[in-house]
Amino acid sequence: MSCIFCRIVAGEIPAEVVARDAGAVAFLDVQPLADGHVLVVPRTHVARLEEMATADAEALFRTVVRLVGPVRRALGAEATTVGVNDGAASGQTVPHVHVHIVPRWSGDGAGTIHTIFPRRTRRPLAEVAAAIRTALG
Ligand code: AMP
Ligand code: ZN
Repeated sequence: MSCIFCRIVAGEIPAEVVARDAGAVAFLDVQPLADGHVLVVPRTHVARLEEMATADAEALFRTVVRLVGPVRRALGAEATTVGVNDGAASGQTVPHVHVHIVPRWSGDGAGTIHTIFPRRTRRPLAEVAAAIRTALG
């Protein structure tokens, strides 16, 4: 088994695990963006969100929702930023789906999800929405 997150799920390599649920495991990011930076991963190995079975996706988000409050309270944080880098072009470095939960404080110097984008949009909203509706089938 070469996937580092599968190995953490299996308990083969050390990690600061904070929750082991039926479908997902949560542990501290080894290079935290802030104190309390948690990664939540599905037990089943998939690289991309769109590869997830519905039950695994539901279990993953259930664990994320279960964790946000306790993570925030444990760190005395005011809020959390929750996000997924889905695919190498988005910055995903570990090809096993993982949700980042990062505690936030007013004035902590970090940006919002919006600040990572240069807003280089070119296409009208209606055209984009139609393309997505068609792709959905
Ligand atoms: P991403 O860029 O979304 O793929 O994020 C991968 C994250 O995994 C990074 O924030 C890394 O610091 C974290 N990471 C990589 N290896 C480990 C590990 N062995 N234990 C905990 N976190 C890890
Ligand atoms: Zn894996």
